[in-house]
Amino acid sequence: MLDGTTAEVVERKALRINAAKTCQPIGAMYAALGIHSCMPHSHGSQGCCSYHRSHLTRHFKEPVMATTSSFTEGASVFGGMANLTQSLKNIFSIYNPEVVAVHTTCLSEVIGDDIPTIVRKSKEEGSIPDGKVVIHANTPSFVGSHVYGFANMVSGMVNYLAEKTGTTLNQVNVIPGYVEPADMREIKRLAAAMGVNIVMFPDTSNVLDGPLTGQYKMYPEGGATVAQIKSSGDSIATLALGHFASHVPAATLESKCNVPAAFMELPIGVGPTDRFVDALRSYGGVEVPASVDLERGRLVDLMSDLSQYFHGKRVAVSGDPDQVIALTQLLLELEMKPVYCITGSPGNQFEKRMHELLDGPVPDAKIKQNADLFELHQWMKQAPVDLLITNTYGKYIARVENVPFVRFGFPILDRAAHRFFPTVGYAGAINLINQMLNAILDKKDRECAEEWFELVQ
Ligand code: SF4
Repeated sequence: MLDGTTAEVVERKALRINAAKTCQPIGAMYAALGIHSCMPHSHGSQGCCSYHRSHLTRHFKEPVMATTSSFTEGASVFGGMANLTQSLKNIFSIYNPEVVAVHTTCLSEVIGDDIPTIVRKSKEEGSIPDGKVVIHANTPSFVGSHVYGFANMVSGMVNYLAEKTGTTLNQVNVIPGYVEPADMREIKRLAAAMGVNIVMFPDTSNVLDGPLTGQYKMYPEGGATVAQIKSSGDSIATLALGHFASHVPAATLESKCNVPAAFMELPIGVGPTDRFVDALRSYGGVEVPASVDLERGRLVDLMSDLSQYFHGKRVAVSGDPDQVIALTQLLLELEMKPVYCITGSPGNQFEKRMHELLDGPVPDAKIKQNADLFELHQWMKQAPVDLLITNTYGKYIARVENVPFVRFGFPILDRAAHRFFPTVGYAGAINLINQMLNAILDKKDRECAEEWFELVQ
C-alpha cells in the first residue's frame, strides 16, 4: 500500500502525511477514565465524541463510555451553553457518576465557550446535584496532540480537586504519564514492593483491563477516587513521569498546594527505572528491598545474554515524545542504534533531550518533533533499518520494507493483549526486549538459508 513512497524528502510546512499523533480530546478522555466513577464529557459535536470513543475502544478492546453536548447548527452559531447545561442535568439524572470531566473540541474552542461559567450557572440552576463534581479541561485540537490533552485534563484534576489542609500525609503522588493500564498497575506494584504509599492519578488499571464477571458495571472498580486526588495536595512530593504528559499538572500542584515536584522520565529501561526507584526510595524514606534488586538483576542478565542479537542494530522509532525519549535509553543500553526517532507531538524539549541522548553514541541519528510517518518511511528508504518500533500504523511501512516490527505506544488497533503487558519498570523492559528479539529472530528464521536455520539460537 505504501509502494509509492520515495526516498527524496521534500520540505513540507502545512501538510502531514500519515500523522504520528491524534487529537487532544482523546488524551483528555483517557485521563478522565482514570478517575473512579467518572463520565468523560465531550463538549462539541457527536462526530468528535464517536471518533474518540471508538479509537479508545479499538485500542483497549473495552467499551469506552463518554457523553457529548451534541452540537448542531444552533450551538455552532450561538454557543454551547444550553447544550452543556442540559447535558449535565441528563448525565447526573440518568448515569449518576460522581464526577463529570468536560473537555472541549475544536468547535467549542473556536466558538470560545466559557466552561467554568457554564458549570457555575448549571450548579446554581440545580443541574449538578450536591456532592457531585464537574471538572474541565480546554483541549483545542488544532494545537498539541493527545498527550497535551491528557496533561490538560490531569491539570484539571489538580485545579478542581487538590486541596491543602496543612497536615502532610505520608504519601507520594505519582502522575504516571500517558501509559497503558498495565503500566499503571506495574508502577503501583513497584511502589507497594518498596513499601511506599502512593496516590496515582489518573489510574486506568481496573478500568480498561478489568475482569469479566458476567455483570455489567457502568463505573468499574478502578480509578483514583475524588478523595485521593483531593489528598494529593497534602502529599510529600509529586513524581511527574514524562515531561509532556506530567510536567504541567505537577507544576500546577506545586504552585497550588506547595507540593514539591520531581520531574522525571518514564521508567522504561534500566537507567530511567533506577531513577524512579531511587526517587520512591528517597521520598518514601525506605530502603530498596531485595525483591526489587532481584528484578533488576534478572533484566541485566537478560540484556547481557542477548547482546549478540541487539548490538549495532539500526532502529527506527516513532511514538509519543515521553515514550520515545525513555525507549531510546533502553535501546542504547542494549547497544542498539536508534537512527531515526520521531514524534508527531510538537515541542522542542523532545529534540533537545534526544540530542543529549544520541549525539554521542549515534551522531548521525535523525531526530524530529512534529513529524509524520511518511517522512520516517522516506528516511528508511534512504538507509534501511533492522527494526521498526511504533504504533499500529507502522505495519504498513514494516510490510512494504520487510522490516521486523514491534508495536509500541498508542494506538495499537490490530492486536489485543498489549494492555496487559507493561513496558515500564524492570518487568516492562523484559517484555519489550522479548518482543524485539522475537521480531528480529522470526525474520531471520523466515529468510535465512537452510544451513543457517538453527533449532537453538
Ligand atoms: S481534530 Fe477537532 S474536529 Fe477533529 S475529531 Fe478532534 S476535536 Fe473533533
